Amino acid sequence: MLTGLQGIKTLKDFDLKDKVVFLRLDLNVPLKDSQVSDDTRINACLPTINYCREQGAKLVLASHLGRPKDGGAEDRQKYSLEPVAKKMGEILQCEVLLVEDPGSDAPKALLSGLKRNQILLLENLRFDPREKKNDSSFSAVLASYSDVYINDAFGSSHRAHSSTAGLPELMKEKGIGFLIEKEVSMLSQLLSSPESPYTAVLGGVKVSDKIDVIENLIDRVDSFIIGGAMSYTFLKAQGIAVGSSLVETDKLSFAREMMKRLEARDKTILLPVDHIVTNNLNKGEVHITDDEKIEEGWMGVDIGPKTISRFQEALKLSRTVFWNGPMGIFENPEFSKGTFAIAESIAPLHNEGGLTIIGGGDSAAAASASGLASKMSHISTGGGASLEFLQGKNLPGIESVRRRR
Ligand code: ADP
Ligand code: MG
Repeated sequence: MLTGLQGIKTLKDFDLKDKVVFLRLDLNVPLKDSQVSDDTRINACLPTINYCREQGAKLVLASHLGRPKDGGAEDRQKYSLEPVAKKMGEILQCEVLLVEDPGSDAPKALLSGLKRNQILLLENLRFDPREKKNDSSFSAVLASYSDVYINDAFGSSHRAHSSTAGLPELMKEKGIGFLIEKEVSMLSQLLSSPESPYTAVLGGVKVSDKIDVIENLIDRVDSFIIGGAMSYTFLKAQGIAVGSSLVETDKLSFAREMMKRLEARDKTILLPVDHIVTNNLNKGEVHITDDEKIEEGWMGVDIGPKTISRFQEALKLSRTVFWNGPMGIFENPEFSKGTFAIAESIAPLHNEGGLTIIGGGDSAAAASASGLASKMSHISTGGGASLEFLQGKNLPGIESVRRRR
């Protein structure tokens, strides 16, 4: 079986001159008052877009934005890519023509007269209900005006939709852009022969979302560090009082079983030994617990100082670190110390030749809020997609451009 980047063409494998390149991007940016409020995702696409333009390709950019219901008037008002077209025009210094109906003949007509300083941006693909259904009739229209298909939307690659799965199946010339190339080559290193000691730092809210990642990493990592809301489920599984902290009751037996398996394999699992707790999330009292126990009426919102030192000791010695999930409610500065301390302790590792990779939407936001994002080996742009990749699953948007054996 081919894995990683095997059997996948990347941008430089194509002759793009005068070709119509269908570029599936992740332009699912946050909007505020019909303006792009954060252009990180647009900027992440620029190397691929610029390369295609330098090579003389005719560009058709495509993306979804948000979760439209039916493509009706309300959706078109709320989830239009119009603000993205405007922003891209400014950044790229060219004319970005927004195509209202990607499922019509309009793109073909526009492409025949396309000038050098113009590119097409298809309106939100999810306005057409066929996109999410991976309807072959929609894929066929998209294919009818495209010569080369390039997927550079890592964050959408775990979905089998028309633009990520059906369309590439119909195309002879297909591959990935620079963004996905980097994602796959970096994330693959966490699965194939990562350097030891290898530590996975897990936090955030939902144990259930991350169980399969834990399963797939269990034989690869040397230790797990568990913080954030996730840790209360693990503490409670050992009979430790966690007060009114978030616990996933139906995952207690998984947590218990996982700790046994780790012990049997001689692996380490580090859990918090103290916490920052509050009796009310809305301006309640805040204090530090003496130990791992949390009293009734109090909820854990961050890891405590003793825990920070313990986690930092372990991280200092690591050569490979995968981090997913904040250590506390970092969005509130009062509860952000634990999360930022993790970012600080893994930041130097990359320069020392180690590998530091952060996955997950909120974790990426936390890394960026810490001001240390540029020190990491890689911060994945795909929340769900990076987790599915690390679960060892095949991503439809990547498999659809891979050469078959
Ligand atoms: P990611 O998006 O990186 O995968 P998650 O979505 O799993 O991460 O978790 C992020 C959220 O977890 C953050 O919004 C943070 O506020 C929340 N969180 C972390 N620790 C706690 C806690 N102790 N109690 C409640 N929420 C928490
Ligand atoms: Mg999240």
